[in-house]
Amino acid sequence: MRHHGFDYLVPDSLLPTLKKGCRVIVPLGSRVTQGFVIEIKSTTRVKNVKPIKENLDIIPSLTEELIQLGSWMSNYYSSHLFRVLQMLIPTALKTKMEQYILVNDEIEKDNISLKELEIIEWVAKNQPIKQSILIDHFSNEKHLIQQMLQFGLLELKRDFVDKGTSKKISFLKLKLSNEHLLLEIAELSKQARKQREVLEYFLFNQINEVSLSTLMSKLNINRSTIQSLVKKGYLEVIKKETARDPYKDRNFQDKRVTLTVEQEQVLRKIVSSFNGEEIKPFLLHGVTGSGKTEIYLQSIEEVLKEGKDSIVLVPEISLTSQMVERFKGRFGSLVAVIHSRLSQGEKLDEWRRIQRGDAKIIIGARSAIFAPVRNLGLIIIDEEHESSYKQEENPKYHVREVAKWRASYHNAVLVLGSATPSMESYFNAQNNQYYLLELPNRILGRKMPKIELVDMRDELRVGNRSMFSQTLQEKIDDRLNKQEQIVLFLNRRGYSTFVMCRSCGYVMKCPHCEISLTYHHTNRVLRCHYCGYTVSDPQNCPECGSKHIRYFGTGTQKVEEELVKRFPGVRVIRMDVDTTSKKGAHDKLLASFRKHEADILLGTQMIAKGLDFEKVTLVGVIAADTLLRLPDFRAAERTFQLLTQVSGRAGRHHLSGDVVIQTYTPEHYSIQYASNHDFQSFYKQELKQRKMMDYPPFRKLIVVHFSHQQLPNVMKASQLFVKELNRLVSRDVEILGPVTSPISRIKDRNRFQCMIKYNDESSTLNKVNQTISLLIEGLKDRNLLISVDVDPYVLM
Ligand code: ADP
Ligand code: ZN
Ligand code: ZN
Repeated sequence: MRHHGFDYLVPDSLLPTLKKGCRVIVPLGSRVTQGFVIEIKSTTRVKNVKPIKENLDIIPSLTEELIQLGSWMSNYYSSHLFRVLQMLIPTALKTKMEQYILVNDEIEKDNISLKELEIIEWVAKNQPIKQSILIDHFSNEKHLIQQMLQFGLLELKRDFVDKGTSKKISFLKLKLSNEHLLLEIAELSKQARKQREVLEYFLFNQINEVSLSTLMSKLNINRSTIQSLVKKGYLEVIKKETARDPYKDRNFQDKRVTLTVEQEQVLRKIVSSFNGEEIKPFLLHGVTGSGKTEIYLQSIEEVLKEGKDSIVLVPEISLTSQMVERFKGRFGSLVAVIHSRLSQGEKLDEWRRIQRGDAKIIIGARSAIFAPVRNLGLIIIDEEHESSYKQEENPKYHVREVAKWRASYHNAVLVLGSATPSMESYFNAQNNQYYLLELPNRILGRKMPKIELVDMRDELRVGNRSMFSQTLQEKIDDRLNKQEQIVLFLNRRGYSTFVMCRSCGYVMKCPHCEISLTYHHTNRVLRCHYCGYTVSDPQNCPECGSKHIRYFGTGTQKVEEELVKRFPGVRVIRMDVDTTSKKGAHDKLLASFRKHEADILLGTQMIAKGLDFEKVTLVGVIAADTLLRLPDFRAAERTFQLLTQVSGRAGRHHLSGDVVIQTYTPEHYSIQYASNHDFQSFYKQELKQRKMMDYPPFRKLIVVHFSHQQLPNVMKASQLFVKELNRLVSRDVEILGPVTSPISRIKDRNRFQCMIKYNDESSTLNKVNQTISLLIEGLKDRNLLISVDVDPYVLM
């Protein structure tokens, strides 16, 4: 357990307001810091228990449920409780603390040393001065400064800056009673016509508050009028928080459709489990375009009727704005949207709306699972197989597990939806852990697109050196002629532009991270994607001096250039991290494509899912096998999923669609089965592989990462860890490694890892944590970092 709580005294002054879940300011060692009240007790065994300094919340930031959830996550994902709890509240509520030092004027300064005098004089000149700066300046006198603080020669003040507080608006408040108001209006001089108008506005409208901007625009007055009234003490200016609505100026439309018989059956099963005892999760396996979203919407309607809240998770909300439109269109302001492109303030507003109970349907990416709803009835995880549902920083949680926890706490229904369920989920459904619901057909008898595999090695043999196969070129020409639209997909991961010397084979790598540098066309630099290291584009090979140094791999920009060359006049919209980094850019590009302002939508992962365009009748995958090359036991699964998702973009409406998949390994089973829309066969074959290798879903995994600046230290620590752990665990726990991580160095830190395979018993994790604690205590090496990844997704 890495669960840390400390006892504090609740001073009388805080007794009436302090509740479980409140954020508080407490002393910790020689500092003060922010914490959460996780329990209120009447006794303690701690002697000289220190008092809580301040309560920051009127309404507790965390509910009882979220505190319990945090504690479970802290255990299961081996992460510090405070860190987990911090993650459950919006960033804007995380208090950033600055401590300032001042000279205490109330203390006699007799009998002080010269050094003390020097410090006092320096502080007096610069105060208030940040503690860190003072200590930097007198770096040899840390101890003395502590003493001076203790004896009160210096005093410590802290300022809490709530990060990104809500937007504030000025309001005018009337400070007169109705009676006085009449009197004052009568007494105003004739010249003060404008002032009279203002007072009359309050009187006639029978209000005592109005926003400054409303008043100024209604009465056509200026600030000096207001100023005079404020001076006379008639009015007061106050600041009020207002909720920003990021979707304010948009109209949403959505038509409710009558469900097909198949959809209706699925909906009934979900709805009939509401209020059941011990509800199992549902796995909704429905092909792309089978009408899953419509089922989500109608299930939510049913939950609403019971007065309960719903959480809907989608992979990355900004990437599926069509989804938001449907929800907003159906449920209006009851919907709160949480995604990464909102500002901190906007996120806080949405969070408050949920906390107050004004929003009852929460739609968002991963972190929306922590929405502070009180009466949860339904959780939906769309595209449940998506790897973005796993957080890669500490706590390294998977949203599916958190959702199961919350659903069982509230006795709510959990629906996992996907056209390509994860191996784990489908396995669970096969073993009756989940109820399986199936929609094997597209809506209204629409056909699945026809998929054609093209072997790129053959293309090379017949002399086609372009990145487009003959087939793809012909089909693009055909669609351009018919004025239909095309989606082209390029997988960026593992396929970015790296720089290689054609004479000696030298590849430009990051000197700190051991990975290839990526070429950025726009500013002609090479950059490391891990640490940001940047160098300008070399003219000669650093190794042999040859001029034949060139860019390999294909970026979206490169594909765009080739398209324009090969299909003169073609209109291309490119979507990748470069073109969508601005807020709103994503939506604009999609809207423009929808209006048929372009023929081809070219993009990375971000166009693979969720998009639904009527005129798209051709989908092309430039190279299918790049994902297969990653050192990852899920490589085949990811490839199958991605190809299926991308293909699903074609022919979703009355026009039928074609898909062309270009590949160098057409024989691979993931590519073969994806091209036949054959999930069952893929699942069976992949399951065999997993069984053979003892991978999930058969056994569970923990990966422990070690890093250190010194190679010998990290080797020694990881070896010691494996040795100690081996002594603790039973024989059927398999410990692999330690080995150098696939990325052996990041930011000048050497990386090692080991993998533990075990059979779902929680004692294994405890033993791992125990071993780590012992190791950290024993080595006392502050440069050593160890992190634990339970149910890992990224094995690099
Ligand atoms: P999925 O989420 O499974 O990909 P959607 O719910 O987006 O599928 O449905 C695909 C398309 O079919 C959408 O355009 C949707 O509006 C339409 N649709 C869904 N259900 C029905 C229905 N019962 N009748 C008519 N059209 C429907
Ligand atoms: Zn680097
Ligand atoms: Zn060279």
